[in-house]
Amino acid sequence: MNLLEKIVNLSKRRGFIFPGSEIYGGLANSWDYGPLGAELKKNIKDEWWKRFVHQRTDMVGLDAALMMNPKVWEASGHVAGFSDPLTECKKCHHRFRADKVTGKKCPDCGGELTEPKQFNLMFQTFMGPSQEKSSAVYLRPETAQAMFVDFKSILETTRKRLPFGIAQVGKAFRNEITPGNFIFRTREFEQMEIEYFVRPDEWEKYFEKWLKEMKKWLKDLGVSEKKLHYAEIPEGERAHYSKRTVDIEYDYPFGREELYGLAYRGDFDLQNHMKASGQDLSYADPENPKDKFVPHVIEPTWGVDRSVLVAMLEAYHEEEAPTAEKGEKEQRTVMRFPNWLAPIKVAVLPLSKKPELAKIAEPIYKELTQKFVCEYDETQSIGKRYRRQDEIGTPYCVTVDFDTIKDKAVTVRDRDTMKQKRVKIAKLGGYLGEQLAK
Ligand SMILES: [Zn+2]
Repeated sequence: MNLLEKIVNLSKRRGFIFPGSEIYGGLANSWDYGPLGAELKKNIKDEWWKRFVHQRTDMVGLDAALMMNPKVWEASGHVAGFSDPLTECKKCHHRFRADKVTGKKCPDCGGELTEPKQFNLMFQTFMGPSQEKSSAVYLRPETAQAMFVDFKSILETTRKRLPFGIAQVGKAFRNEITPGNFIFRTREFEQMEIEYFVRPDEWEKYFEKWLKEMKKWLKDLGVSEKKLHYAEIPEGERAHYSKRTVDIEYDYPFGREELYGLAYRGDFDLQNHMKASGQDLSYADPENPKDKFVPHVIEPTWGVDRSVLVAMLEAYHEEEAPTAEKGEKEQRTVMRFPNWLAPIKVAVLPLSKKPELAKIAEPIYKELTQKFVCEYDETQSIGKRYRRQDEIGTPYCVTVDFDTIKDKAVTVRDRDTMKQKRVKIAKLGGYLGEQLAK
C-alpha cells in the first residue's frame, strides 16, 4: 500500500474524510470532511485568517457570493478562455485531457481518439425558474474576481492606503475533465486567496515578501523543505500580463504537482473590470489626489484541500512502540501533526468505566473543553485508546486511574515521546496550555 492509500484508509476509518454520497454509491471524486477532517480543515483556515488578516494592519477580509453576475466572467476572460482540450475515445467513449495523453490512442482500450475540442471548465446553472440563456450563471471558478469587483467598495469603506490586501476563503468549482488523487484535484474545492494591491513600481519587493510568507506558512504546517520546489514559470508559459509567477510544487506519492501559487498580475484584472463595467477602479493618494493610478496586484493562492492533504502526508508515521499493558513491542501509526493543527488537542481517558473514575474524569473533561478541543473516551482497553489517539494525532492523553482518587493527580501522556508524567489536577489546565503552545 502506498502512502496515499494509507491516508485514504485512515481518513475513512477514523473519520477525517469520507467518499461523498456513499450510501448512494458515491459521486465521482466528491469527498466529505468528517468530524476530524472538519476540525483539521478549520484549524488551517482559522490560522491562515488570524495570521494574514487579524494580525496585520494592511489586510482586510471578504466573504463574497459564490454566484456573480456573468459579466464578471466575460470581463475576466473565463467565458472565452477558461478551458481544457477535451478528447474522446471513439470505441469506449472515455474522455481525456488531450494535453495529458501521449499519442493518439486511448490509454484505456487503445481505440482511436477524436480531434481535441475546447471544453469550458466553469459550472453553469440557472438563476430563477426559467432555463433560458439570459438567466444562466456560473459557480465561481476562483475566489479572486470578487476581490477586484469589490475593490472600490472596500477602498471606500476601510480607507486603506497602498499597499494593502484583501483576503478571502471559500469554495470554487471547476468541471475538471480528469479529477483524482483523493482530495488533490476535485471539482469542488476551497481556496484561501489574497489580492495584494501595490504601486506599479513596487511589485518586486512585495512579491518577495509574499514568497517568504508562503515559505514560513509551509514550515509551520509541518512540510519538509526537501519535498518542496519553487518553480519559476518562464516567459511564454506565464499568462501574458504576468512578469513573474512561482508555482510551489510538492512531491506527492503520485509525483511532483502544484500545491500553491504566487503570481504578479499587473493591473490586468482591474483594467478589465474598468473597461467592462465603466466604473473607475483607480486609486488616488489621499495626500496627493493628483497621484492617481490603477494599482498592480500580487496574488498568493493556497488550496485548502491540498493543505489538508499535505499536512496528512507529512504527519503520517509508522513505528514500533511498546504496548501499554505489557511493554511488548507493537506497530503503531501516529499522526505527528504540529499542536496547532491537531483536530483533538487532549483526550481524557478514565482507566475503566467504573463510576468512581467517571466522577473525577467528567469534571476534568468539562473544564478542559473551555480551553481546548477535547475528547472523552472510556470504552476499550487503555492501550487501544492510546493507539486510536495516536492515529488521529492527539498530542496529549490524560488518564484518570485509581491512584487519582488518593493523590488528586492524573497521568499525561505525550503522543510523540510516549513519556508519561504525573500532573496534579489543579495544575492540569496550565500545564497543557504551556505544552500545547509549543
Ligand atoms: Zn477507449
